[in-house]
Amino acid sequence: MKQQIVLDEIVNKRGRRVDGFINYGQKPDMSHYQIPVIIVEGGHPGKTLLIDAAMHGDETEGSEAIIKLAAELENMEFNGTFVGVPALNMEAFACISRATLTDGFNLNRIFPGTKDKYITHYLAAEYMERVVSHVDAVINMHGGGDVLHLEPLAAYVPSEGEDDEVSRLSQGMAEAFNVKYLWCQQNLPFDGITSLEYKKAFGIPTIIPEVGSQCSRFVNRERDVDICYRGMKNVMAYFGMIPPTGDKPVEHKIHIELNYLHARNGGIQKLCKRENEIVEEGETLGVIHDMFGNQVEELKAPFPGVVIGYWSVPVIRPGDWWSLYGRILKKE
Ligand SMILES: [Zn+2]
Repeated sequence: MKQQIVLDEIVNKRGRRVDGFINYGQKPDMSHYQIPVIIVEGGHPGKTLLIDAAMHGDETEGSEAIIKLAAELENMEFNGTFVGVPALNMEAFACISRATLTDGFNLNRIFPGTKDKYITHYLAAEYMERVVSHVDAVINMHGGGDVLHLEPLAAYVPSEGEDDEVSRLSQGMAEAFNVKYLWCQQNLPFDGITSLEYKKAFGIPTIIPEVGSQCSRFVNRERDVDICYRGMKNVMAYFGMIPPTGDKPVEHKIHIELNYLHARNGGIQKLCKRENEIVEEGETLGVIHDMFGNQVEELKAPFPGVVIGYWSVPVIRPGDWWSLYGRILKKE
């Protein structure tokens, strides 16, 4: 059995379930930065699957799903081990903030981290060493959080060749997760993210689902948590940890290349195309007006595609992600 995660503090031990914390960095008030960890052993040999959420502290649909799934798993036998981390960046989560407040870093840009820089780098390094190195696969949950909207999407790592087993498994996990949009991160505009760094360091597959946002929380919070929860179970079934869930596959899945279109100016933005709309090249996606009502920017679709998400609050600043726009690669 691969899983050998050691917790610094155990707060609950019940049957095959253990809840506790990994501590890193003692604070001036003598408390520690902590990673909350739930470990449920299934009682039979199998894969160790890590599912974490709220590495961006305002993206919490996955957190609720992890809590729900752990409660269910502790009362059943299954193959392998479930490791749940409902709030990976606890400081950001506690402050309902995307980034770590102490140092301002975005955790999903600084992997693999290091123990001799800022607290977010320390978190990444400690997590890699003490949790990720002990698992067989990872679901790293994200969402639109407080300022973006994103339609349910599962991202996986691009293949580096025919014998790239890690990418094959990652794609299999993404397809099993069962949401409408699939993105293979072939054009990823950032460095230091979980999926690619875990592949490099440990040769394990990761997917990054994006589910829910402040836009849908008012009326569809339960629906979005349920999409996460079902997706997680479908991936467990993909690895043979539980029997097939019987979930009907989402119809008309779309494989996309996700593009982050930034605003060049700030002001009050208005969206001209909404989620799931199919758009022709040159059509207007949104406009920005200044405080006197003058239009300062218009965003035109750079190619034919589909709107996956957008900046979801009225005020936008220069550089913000205005449109999350998908080039359609394949429709199923
Ligand atoms: Zn995120």
